[in-house]
Amino acid sequence: MDINYHKTLTFKNRKPCRELSIELNIRGASEYTKVSFPVKYGLFSKLETCDYIFEFNLIHEIRHIKSKKKSWLNPSEWLKRTMGNDWVYYSTGGYSGVFEALGEYYLPNLMYPTNSLLGGRPFEENEINGIVKNWHEIILQLPVTGIPVEFSQWIQSIQQQTPEKLQEKSQSLFDISGSRVTVMPPDARHVDYNIIPITICDGCLYKCQFCKIKNKKKFLIRSKQDIDNQITQLRQLYSQDIVNFNAIFLGEHDALNAPCELILNTVQKAFDGFEFQSSYMKENFLFMFGSVDSFLNAGKLFFERLNGLPFQTFINIGLESYDQATLDLLGKPVTKKQVGQAFEKIQTINDTFSNIEITCNFVMDETLPDSHYESLMTLIRKSVNRTKPKGCIYLSPLKFNSPSRQGLYDFYKLKSLSRFPTFLYMIQRL
Ligand code: SF4
Repeated sequence: MDINYHKTLTFKNRKPCRELSIELNIRGASEYTKVSFPVKYGLFSKLETCDYIFEFNLIHEIRHIKSKKKSWLNPSEWLKRTMGNDWVYYSTGGYSGVFEALGEYYLPNLMYPTNSLLGGRPFEENEINGIVKNWHEIILQLPVTGIPVEFSQWIQSIQQQTPEKLQEKSQSLFDISGSRVTVMPPDARHVDYNIIPITICDGCLYKCQFCKIKNKKKFLIRSKQDIDNQITQLRQLYSQDIVNFNAIFLGEHDALNAPCELILNTVQKAFDGFEFQSSYMKENFLFMFGSVDSFLNAGKLFFERLNGLPFQTFINIGLESYDQATLDLLGKPVTKKQVGQAFEKIQTINDTFSNIEITCNFVMDETLPDSHYESLMTLIRKSVNRTKPKGCIYLSPLKFNSPSRQGLYDFYKLKSLSRFPTFLYMIQRL
């Protein structure tokens, strides 16, 4: 793809505050990093008016917005539109608390209920709510005459990407695999949740009682043909903007339970089909969920082959508890013994394979028995005698829509005792 030009236009007419500047094909950061200031990734274009900064992807779809007005909560905070057409408000949350809790410097505030313990209600702020609703009206008022043709064409193209079209596009994304990704693995934070979803199997094995994100689908493996079709259609949907992606998510809730060959073939086909070798973003990432059973069943040879792929792979396993009473309470049909074996195997895989990280989730809630927390300590503190750099432990609050200081305090207590990197799991959809 030919993106070797970078042009800037600053345009001013006589009316007060009608200055605008356009920068086409900006080269943002090409590697995801964790820093305490806003970083823009990939190739994009920018439009700056007196009041706002808008950023667009390579196919003229709005990507980020930030207001320059005093009423904006914080100059280093911004709005992001996801591929699922949600707006997410990234807040600093005072920085230190957010990084300690999430492993990232910015807190994604979502428009729908989630299990976050942190955050306020930014979408109730007039300035944020207003720009989410009216951004396209502002774009429609931009001049398309009296400026160089290249900029005029660009403005017309961004004007054509209406909120309705963007909504339809997100629906097309969900239609490719048959449904929306209702939960992304916590590890997708490493690529700011910019993943391309491919469903290789539907549903999950357990249908645990406590789980709010499960669906009714029976666990079913997709055919090779179905997966090939998804890759072809996704390539078309992402179009020229595909160069801004370097990560895939194999769905749905237990991709690890698919046959090894199907997983490995899909990853290779996606790498080729999405032309990751020429992505603007460095490195490639693979994310998926696994269950206790699928993880215990996966053989050494599978991990060896996975490790040999040109991807950093993150597999997230829902262990939930190492206490039988809690597992029974949660309605999770696995035993304490299986959870212990899975945790042990996780350490072996993480110690052996440099390109694979297995992470795991445990639930947290003030109503759970003390035995849940005591047994959790056995795994995340007593089972190892030194701090581990790898193998994140994610603690997942059970309640939705219930930010809680006490919950956060309990989390920090567990984190301070853990010998693994330990963070909160905030459930996000694509
Ligand atoms: S926790 Fe995982 S396995 Fe259990 S119902 Fe939810 S998605 Fe399925």
